[in-house]
Amino acid sequence: MNICLIGDSLTSLALAKNLINKNIKVYVYCKKSKKSIFQSRTIGISKNNFDFFNKEIIKFRKDMFWKIKAIEIYSEKLKCEKILNFENNGEELFFIAKNREIYQLLDSDLKKNKLFKKILIKNNNFYKKILNEKKYELIINCDGNNKISNNFFYNKINKNYNSYAHTTIINHKYIKNDKAIQIFTKIGPVAFLPISNFKTSIVFSAINKKISFSEKEIKNLICQQNKNYEIKSFGKLEKFELNFSVTRKYYYKNLMNFGDSLHKIHPLSGQGFNMTLRDIKILSKIIKERVDLGLQIDHSVYKDFENKTKHLNFIFSSGNDFIYEFFKFDNNYKNNYLNQLVKFLGKNKLFNNIVSKYADEGLTI
Ligand SMILES: Cc1cc2nc3c(=O)[nH]c(=O)nc-3n(C[C@H](O)[C@H](O)[C@H](O)COP(=O)(O)OP(=O)(O)OC[C@H]3O[C@@H](n4cnc5c(N)ncnc54)[C@H](O)[C@@H]3O)c2cc1C
Repeated sequence: MNICLIGDSLTSLALAKNLINKNIKVYVYCKKSKKSIFQSRTIGISKNNFDFFNKEIIKFRKDMFWKIKAIEIYSEKLKCEKILNFENNGEELFFIAKNREIYQLLDSDLKKNKLFKKILIKNNNFYKKILNEKKYELIINCDGNNKISNNFFYNKINKNYNSYAHTTIINHKYIKNDKAIQIFTKIGPVAFLPISNFKTSIVFSAINKKISFSEKEIKNLICQQNKNYEIKSFGKLEKFELNFSVTRKYYYKNLMNFGDSLHKIHPLSGQGFNMTLRDIKILSKIIKERVDLGLQIDHSVYKDFENKTKHLNFIFSSGNDFIYEFFKFDNNYKNNYLNQLVKFLGKNKLFNNIVSKYADEGLTI
């Protein structure tokens, strides 16, 4: 069986490795890759997805991830009072790893595998050719910025947050560092995501402002919000444009969209790649069941995949956007009622458990 993946993003490599583990031949078609990107970007992977990644994609090296045992949410409006707190009796809730290191782990493993082939896209005729050829059982597009996305999956719900996420890694003095912190400030959410006892990654995104912050302003803002670390130095600062998009159609004929090209969300709850991992889990199960029954793999798996994921992905993406809008809306009001309400809900054990479960496993019915 031959499967074609378009794009060499993290999504594409993770899916490729999962398929290869099932003895499926994978051809990844990609444009010339950019060098040294994502120096400071980290990914928080939920416990459930981390277990899936290790078992059914690739095993993380021990030095590649950092365990997070508590998540605390603060509001600047409530004089930096804690409004939510998630813990599970000292168990890990999340694992933080560097984007670049996960990518390199997958890339170097796949390069050595006989079932994997990476082919460079030389010109735009490629897209027409690949659709007309009947060489592959499935063609899965993991690149949101190519002709296929623009021509076949342009029907989307789009929203531009008019904002950038700024990321960096701070080097600091030793601290027992297993608590992730998110602060909803008047300018936007700032997250402190530990990656060792000496390093913490930062994600800051301004609410609805495309004004460009100078390096000094971003560093000042981080220092202002930082209550825990004795900062020694800052790593490279990077920025990423933020959008929300959900495609209305998951597939067209023998072609399916996948990953961030299906659902792109604000990083404030660290769920973008987690959604994709849940999609890989479901697609992988559909393919496995068919192979086990001796059935043919063809594009009818797309319909099955869409039926199982589209409604849940839509609710999940919209829920994430609701959190963003909620805190943005709250910013415009002088009273503290909404923050107090969240704080009150957070003290309820059932609410706390439900939110933790959704963040870990996504929505299930
Ligand atoms: C600031 C920020 C923080 C985020 N935090 C989280 C989080 O905590 N948890 C979570 O689940 N999701 C998070 N996300 C979302 C997550 O990063 C994406 O869902 C994930 O990266 C998959 O995206 P992708 O596969 O479409 O493309 P990406 O892997 O992001 O790649 C985009 C492009 O860059 C190229 N590329 C990527 N890496 C390399 C590399 N090392 N070398 C060469 N080329 C490369 C690829 O070819 C591709 O074309 C975050 C997003 C942002 C913007």
